[in-house]
Amino acid sequence: MIQVNTLVKSFGSVNVLKGINLNVQEKEVVVLLGASGSGKSTLLRCLNFLEIYDDGEIYIFGEKRDPHKSNLNQIRQEVGMVFQHFNLFPHKTVLENVIEAPIHVKKIKKKTAIDTAYDLLDKVGLRDKAHEYPGMLSGGQKQRVAIARALAMAPRVMLFDEPTSALDPELVGEVLQVMKQLAKEGMTMIVVTHEMGFAREVADRVVFMSDGKILEEAHPEQFFVNPQTERAQQFLRSIL
Ligand code: ADP
Ligand code: MG
Repeated sequence: MIQVNTLVKSFGSVNVLKGINLNVQEKEVVVLLGASGSGKSTLLRCLNFLEIYDDGEIYIFGEKRDPHKSNLNQIRQEVGMVFQHFNLFPHKTVLENVIEAPIHVKKIKKKTAIDTAYDLLDKVGLRDKAHEYPGMLSGGQKQRVAIARALAMAPRVMLFDEPTSALDPELVGEVLQVMKQLAKEGMTMIVVTHEMGFAREVADRVVFMSDGKILEEAHPEQFFVNPQTERAQQFLRSIL
């Protein structure tokens, strides 16, 4: 579904991604781990072309995506992203947030977009909040709206960048629950998270990054029980 070959990205003189190779299969859930600054967000942002990489190749659904030739809007529709900070439009209701991009970017009929939006709000347990404004919602509810909004574009892959890191601890579970359900339904997902319980339970594979490189890839049980590199051992000690 996604193939990344020797991806390189620098910001000025700082080389942030140093030749990333990564393959993600359809329906696979990959959890991306690594210390702060290791390049996880930059990698996700390159995958939906919020950042333009300097060198390497990205294939999505078997097609090479060239940032200078491909239609970036099209790619961003196929690859949904959820951020740590939900970035909802504060002056739009929950429903309006969810239908905005389908109507204005995808040119879907309003009636259809609204029907889909209600289905998605059902899925994340927030149909009853459809006409409220984000300011009235808890952080966990906002993040669930953000997930519904990303799903409204019918992406084939979902990227999550620390979706629960900004939440009070008691609100983390409801967001993870929605993500678990998505995984169960067969969504292909790449998730950056520090929720090790989620990684253990839901991930098909853990990818460990350090200093712009992938150091380890393993099944979660194998990674958590028996990390191979000193860096990974250090990382696990620091978070567990
Ligand atoms: P992570 O998500 O693993 O914490 P990031 O991908 O956010 O890591 O950052 C990796 C490195 O790239 C950091 O050193 C960070 O300061 C740098 N970086 C990220 N984005 C930018 C940017 N837009 N401009 C300059 N440096 C950046
Ligand atoms: Mg990050």
